[in-house]
Amino acid sequence: MFNLDEAQALVVQHTLALKPQRVPILEALGLLLEEDVLSDIASPPHDKALVDGYAVVAEDLTNGCGELHVHEEVMAGDVPQHRVTTGTATRIMTGAPVPEGASAVVMMERCDRLGPQRIRIADPALKPGQHIMPAGTSLRRGDLVLQRGVEIRAIEVGLLAEVGRADALVIPRPHVAVLATGNELMPVHETPTAGKLRNSNGPMLLAAARRAGAQTLDLGIARDHKEQLADRISQGLNLDVLILSGGVSAGALDLVPKVLNELGVRQVFHHVRLKPGKPVWFGVHSHAHGSTLVFGLPGNPVSSLVTFQLLVQPALRRLAGRNSATGSLVARLVTAHAHHGDRPTFYPARLHEQDGLRSVQLVAWHGSADLASLAAANCLVHFPAGSQLHAAGDKVEVVEF
Ligand code: AMP
Ligand code: MG
Repeated sequence: MFNLDEAQALVVQHTLALKPQRVPILEALGLLLEEDVLSDIASPPHDKALVDGYAVVAEDLTNGCGELHVHEEVMAGDVPQHRVTTGTATRIMTGAPVPEGASAVVMMERCDRLGPQRIRIADPALKPGQHIMPAGTSLRRGDLVLQRGVEIRAIEVGLLAEVGRADALVIPRPHVAVLATGNELMPVHETPTAGKLRNSNGPMLLAAARRAGAQTLDLGIARDHKEQLADRISQGLNLDVLILSGGVSAGALDLVPKVLNELGVRQVFHHVRLKPGKPVWFGVHSHAHGSTLVFGLPGNPVSSLVTFQLLVQPALRRLAGRNSATGSLVARLVTAHAHHGDRPTFYPARLHEQDGLRSVQLVAWHGSADLASLAAANCLVHFPAGSQLHAAGDKVEVVEF
């Protein structure tokens, strides 16, 4: 049986970043850019008025004061036709190109209209360059706008649009299929009959995969039946990742490892020194267009969630081109806790942060079938193997959900 860090290393070893793909920029949101992006334009493309007002020759006015003849009006989107010369001004709107000859823009509020084409300006603070954004201030043609490796946020989507990119080369979202297995499982919309329970893992794992940036496919429920399992599992073996829940323990109907083996999925490990989640299975299926990572997670909901967090999530990060480490942090226990057990244990808890101090409170729960108590949790506390008495205030390692 492998230790958790060995199992995690094996998962990472078998996982490569997905091949870059060109996608529409809106679909690139949250993904990593796989190319350098240069600007095809200067921004602004022209000297641009930053206020509504009059474009003038600043040097033409005495202490910013004087009367001028208005010979043109330029709106945003227009192109000025006339040069501003001594004694003249162009009425100009925010964003419009500043006409040739003009060296400043005077705000509307500093001007009085004397007639249809005559204004008096009184702007004692007037300086050349005032209220003009010179062409290329933000970007010059050929500038590196975005560097390979950045994550596309709303800002990057806007920038890509500004430099004329309708699509971008990114590492795509991993495609993940989820299949719940078990004779006892009933679909969500039905009320469980004797001996049965609803399939909560399916939706939970689909949600966790989406939250981790994956595109998901719901393969529903398969019964503990070799043929049915083989049929359903095959439907997920052409995606990047197949996540199974249930059927990997030592029960009479835990057929998943055997069926996977018969389908040619190569086992990398089965069982990890871990609580909850020990029966977890991992293997790789190689096929014509690449390979599928296959995770068999134990059926108990908390075991499923913990093994997703510790083993599946790093794989999804790596497929998406990121560092596989999901990271942990240190917090102080709010109440004392006696830990016993021969396996490292991940205990659901609630992490609090106030004024930079982190504290963590274990939630009261009833073992790995108790999903309801996890609603109060936002992290897992890691207790190493062995018996230890942790006092209130002791530092512990925490993995955030
Ligand atoms: P297994 O890992 O198949 O032995 O399942 C262990 C236990 O987990 C089962 O007896 C169920 O109580 C529970 N379980 C299995 N699959 C699911 C599921 N999809 N949703 C909720 N609970 C499940
Ligand atoms: Mg089962």
